[in-house]
Amino acid sequence: MRTDYHMHTPLCGHAAGMPRDYVLAAQKAGLAEIGFSDHNPMPTQFDDWRMAPDQLPVYLKMIAEVQSEFPDYPIRLGLECDFIPNFEGHIRYLADQADWDYLIGSVHYVTPDWDIDNPKHLKRWTEHPVEDIWQSYFDAYTKMVESCLFDFVAHPDLVKKFGHRPAGDLSRFYLRTLDAIAEAGVTLEINTAGLRKDVREIYPSRDFLVAAHARHIPIVINSDAHDPKEVGADFDLAYALAREVGYTKVMRFAKRKAKAVGIA
Ligand code: ZN
Ligand code: FE
Ligand code: FE
Ligand code: ZN
Repeated sequence: MRTDYHMHTPLCGHAAGMPRDYVLAAQKAGLAEIGFSDHNPMPTQFDDWRMAPDQLPVYLKMIAEVQSEFPDYPIRLGLECDFIPNFEGHIRYLADQADWDYLIGSVHYVTPDWDIDNPKHLKRWTEHPVEDIWQSYFDAYTKMVESCLFDFVAHPDLVKKFGHRPAGDLSRFYLRTLDAIAEAGVTLEINTAGLRKDVREIYPSRDFLVAAHARHIPIVINSDAHDPKEVGADFDLAYALAREVGYTKVMRFAKRKAKAVGIA
């Protein structure tokens, strides 16, 4: 039985539909369990794609309400947290603000003012060598993993979103990150949203996942839905990929504890 732990809400300003619509879509898709994980608030108004600094209570209430509307359906409470150097204390603060089932670690920012997945900054890709951008991204991702603040880490090679890729074998960028993930014992996300972006490929790539499996890194498979119709999107492809590289288990999350279950 499948799960989807990466789903957004209207509070981030770039997702459609209400939580109940995501639940209905998940039930229709036959998912056994889901979880919401909207973009975390920052201490100040940081960008235009997350809940406002004072909206965490609104988010918690929104999820509590949908949980009580569907009492027989397991709906977990999560948060997708941006790892930004010097804001580790803020993540620790957020971790204490609710009875989370899981916290997701994400790297969107490669510098304090460049969220690399934001189409608004596409021009910057022409101003820096792709190699350097990839290196900055994986340096940041490795630091995030080493912080040990998160239950799973999201969209591992998000840096490829718009199709910018250095030439040759890309393992030179991510093997160190994978060693850190194995060392930290954190779960790695397979995220189908990449299939809906310019790159048209699951995050992470097959080669990346093969190297993760070689290190016995546990996985979770998510859609990163920003619309009810994306709940469980392309899961057949993602599960097939996981199985092909040798995975037989995926992780489930509750109260910040992970447990392995057989793959569906
Ligand atoms: Zn988003
Ligand atoms: Fe993200
Ligand atoms: Fe997300
Ligand atoms: Zn995401």
